[in-house]
Amino acid sequence: RIAYVNGRYLPHAKAAVHIEDRGYQFADGVYEVVPVHKGILVDEELHLDRLERSLRELRIAMPMGREALKLISREVMRRNHLNNGFLYMQMTRGVAPRDHKFPAAAKPAVVMTVRQMKPASKEKLEAGVPVITLPDIRWARRDIKSVSLLPNCLAKQQAHEAGAVEAWMVDGDGYVTEGTSTNAWIVTADNVLVTRSATHDILNGITRIALLDRVAAEGVTFEERPFTVEEALNAKEAFITSSTNYVMPVTEIDGRAIGNGHPGLLTMKLRDAYVAHIEGGEGT
Ligand code: PLP
Repeated sequence: RIAYVNGRYLPHAKAAVHIEDRGYQFADGVYEVVPVHKGILVDEELHLDRLERSLRELRIAMPMGREALKLISREVMRRNHLNNGFLYMQMTRGVAPRDHKFPAAAKPAVVMTVRQMKPASKEKLEAGVPVITLPDIRWARRDIKSVSLLPNCLAKQQAHEAGAVEAWMVDGDGYVTEGTSTNAWIVTADNVLVTRSATHDILNGITRIALLDRVAAEGVTFEERPFTVEEALNAKEAFITSSTNYVMPVTEIDGRAIGNGHPGLLTMKLRDAYVAHIEGGEGT
């Protein structure tokens, strides 16, 4: 495997960053995960928009132009013969003697890697996945795709230990924010699709954005608003979205079956619509 690190393509095992990189010292950086489907970067422009936004919010200079980033992405994919999986991009404020304040003249660091991955198996899709709910202990700017993911890691580990695949995090008012690496959705008893609006409280998933476009086009009734755990437990359907999961049915929350305990009809229709979107190679 080949990785891109600050201007060089290196064997994965030899690719390293400096111990005083602020990403390592302070989690002072951002990242993107772009799905690759049949050799095409899915919704690449939307991912680059979000990357630029995350950098801007943290006042980290964009290390290079979009066209250069796109060329490097393609080169990393080519060198790794990547057809299906995802591209990981990370940018940090760069290397500087450890001091919380921003360094006067650090050069942002750029790392890119790819990973092969197969889409979810038919069996997994037919079973759906269990999730648990946990308090959301993250900071107040979850809209920034920062590499500071410790609360997410702790929650995902807790989910894993409980036999679940994701944790839905719950804010102080009892409303679900999102999963540790996915957005959370429910379908109410009267067929209204609900997902939390994209404020500072959640990461605005690119899969979420792409799916909302399809939802509008298909005439599905939807509401962008917070929902409680109680509402989720009583929902007809539930699912999660992300670049690596696409649309994944949730069939159990905190040990209780959702709807009839099987993936929902609307959920699977939306998954098909999303898959058709990535098959179409739009947005690149
Ligand atoms: N929410 C969080 C906290 C995430 O980390 C992610 C992705 O990693 C998502 C939502 C889904 O975003 P996307 O659809 O862009 O993968």
